[in-house]
Amino acid sequence: MSTPKYKRIVLKLSGEALAGEQGYGIDSEVVSSIARQIKEVVDLGVQVAIVVGGGNIWRGISGAAKGIDRATADYMGMLATVMNSLALQDSLESIGVPTRVQTSIEMRQIAEPYIRRKAIRHLEKGRVVIFAAGIGNPFFSTDTTAALRAADIEAEVILMAKNNVDGVYSADPSVYPDAVKYDTLTFLDVLNQGLGVMDSTAASLCMDNDIPLIVFNISTEGNIRRVTLGEHIGTVVKG
Ligand code: UDP
Repeated sequence: MSTPKYKRIVLKLSGEALAGEQGYGIDSEVVSSIARQIKEVVDLGVQVAIVVGGGNIWRGISGAAKGIDRATADYMGMLATVMNSLALQDSLESIGVPTRVQTSIEMRQIAEPYIRRKAIRHLEKGRVVIFAAGIGNPFFSTDTTAALRAADIEAEVILMAKNNVDGVYSADPSVYPDAVKYDTLTFLDVLNQGLGVMDSTAASLCMDNDIPLIVFNISTEGNIRRVTLGEHIGTVVKG
């Protein structure tokens, strides 16, 4: 059996990753494909924590642009991440992967509250832990949540799954065909060049806590496994 490079990972799934081609809402086929890919790495013995975004349903900043108070719009965004998390939980459990959803805003009827030591215990028992509702505060993102939770649970890496783009480019490759793909970058490069990998709060947290990030394309089945086994696909951002 292949030996994974990492024992504990945080997988960051943007809301769009669950939307598939339609670009909005939850595509059950796409969610099933992601769940199968996650199962592959759980079966390797890797401890998997997941942070799910909500942009396929609601983004605070867009809501604020329509006149909704920004903090309220952000809370709506956090609720969107809970819907996505429940969809992913359902899909994972239907293929026999035990999961727990933990939310940063208490909603005990549907999920556990976020408790660090409990999350770690679940991971040690082979359960996938899905962190929902961001960090529970407006004005933050689920990228920042991934960085914060990765630091908190001592994950070795954040795998940042992208839809239909296979890494970080010097410019948007769908607009600029001559854009160059980076193999490796530093968090300072990301911050200084304003590369759209993650927001600056998230990048600073990763840099300060020495958490590497791998940006890769999740649309190719098997890629989560490839990254976890140490295959160099996508872009690695470190130090
Ligand atoms: N959000 C928030 N605080 C957090 C995490 C998320 O306010 O800690 C809100 C914010 O409005 C954001 C929305 O939830 O726009 C959805 O998250 P995000 O945009 O990070 O999702 P993604 O882009 O990954 O789909």
